Amino acid sequence: MSKFVLSQLPYSHDALEPFIDKQTMEIHHGKHHQAYVDNLNKALDGTEAAEKSLEEIFANMSIHPASVRNNGGGHYNHSLFWTLMKPNGGGQPTGKLADAINSAFGSFDEFKKLFANAGLTRFGSGWAWLVESNGILKISSTPNQDNPLMDIADVKGNPILGVDVWEHAYYLKYQNRRAEYLENFWNIVNWDEVANLFSKLK
Ligand code: MN
Repeated sequence: MSKFVLSQLPYSHDALEPFIDKQTMEIHHGKHHQAYVDNLNKALDGTEAAEKSLEEIFANMSIHPASVRNNGGGHYNHSLFWTLMKPNGGGQPTGKLADAINSAFGSFDEFKKLFANAGLTRFGSGWAWLVESNGILKISSTPNQDNPLMDIADVKGNPILGVDVWEHAYYLKYQNRRAEYLENFWNIVNWDEVANLFSKLK
């Protein structure tokens, strides 16, 4: 049984140049994300959890084996991540999302600082997140392929923006300079999609 499939990127591999290079996108999507999909299908094959959605699995993450946690998170997080970037992205959010960011963090610049810091200070591999919980926005980070939908997360809620801080996401172009990768991430954020995710939660 092969339940989950790798979807196509919503843009070409070189579309996020010069901020994320073509080779990184080819390997990240075609090899790393594909491996999460394949290993998730293997981990679920023949189990009861194979009938459940990833959201249902995440809500009871603690009862599932590590292979489901790591590869289920890996598939979900990357599927979301690709949609949160676009060529000619960046700028600033507007409307209700901008209001919610200002209300939670004081200003857009302050939000950017806190979000980048969450990514920078995540030791080893993981993600930084902008999370909605009961109408309030929060910043968090998770280790490995965990995410805020999981019952085991420190900060639980709905992720509306996330950035991958695994070395495989930036090492070819930025080497050890994670801060520079995070600074450049702002040039490709798809704020329309972040706002779309936020509006669906209301
Ligand atoms: Mn990744």
